[in-house]
Amino acid sequence: MPLTPDRCICLRKTEFSETSQILTLFTRQHGLLRVIAKGAHRTTKAGASKFGGGIDLLDAGDAVFTLDLEKQMGTLTEWRLIEGHLELRRNLRAMYLGQYAAELVGFLIEEHDPHPELFDRLEQTLSDLATVRLEEAFLAFELDLLRETGYLAEMSACVECSSTLTDREPAWFSPSRGGILCRNCESLVHDRIHIDVRLLRMAQSILRLPRSDGSAQRLPRLTRHQTDPINRLLVEHIEHTLGRRRRMHAYVLGNGNH
Ligand SMILES: [Zn+2]
Repeated sequence: MPLTPDRCICLRKTEFSETSQILTLFTRQHGLLRVIAKGAHRTTKAGASKFGGGIDLLDAGDAVFTLDLEKQMGTLTEWRLIEGHLELRRNLRAMYLGQYAAELVGFLIEEHDPHPELFDRLEQTLSDLATVRLEEAFLAFELDLLRETGYLAEMSACVECSSTLTDREPAWFSPSRGGILCRNCESLVHDRIHIDVRLLRMAQSILRLPRSDGSAQRLPRLTRHQTDPINRLLVEHIEHTLGRRRRMHAYVLGNGNH
């Protein structure tokens, strides 16, 4: 079996036995990959562990693994930790946003389907989450991910009548219709959520920014008060589209009070 090296971020982990882990890795060149890390927690007589005592959620590293497209799971043979995100782990909100970003990638990207640009964006976003720019960094990543995977909702024109909404008009969002509704059409749809059009404009302006430098410095400064309503809409839309509940969304949106 040929061994394949790649840069990876750990999106999910399950302790498989006392010594092993099953990991979902987002690899830069090979997309999502499920691997077993045998002996991850086993230490040698000298006290050394094969994978540094185990791989944690959001850890980034240089990995070597077996890659067999016929098989459901590969085997991790080497792991060198590049970034353990210690700063991010000290901030509960940052940790939740990081886990949520990882969960979204795990749900929206297919196995063995490479997205190197999204990989680089996630890597940059995880380091931005450890700064004061965490809210805008998360929102920008979420929007990029949705656009890249085809799950982005319609945010500029009414999905019923195609009229463009102005900043002064009231607007609603329908997760089932996948976009905004104007005041003439909102009564036609049952699952509507009221939304401030200015927040949608802000999301659109983030989507129009060039992604060349990949840093959160160019983003408008945002508070959780501004990002929560948009995150909520996007989550509702993804849930409706995928038809399953996101485990992490309650952390992002508060205590599930949506
Ligand atoms: Zn309309």
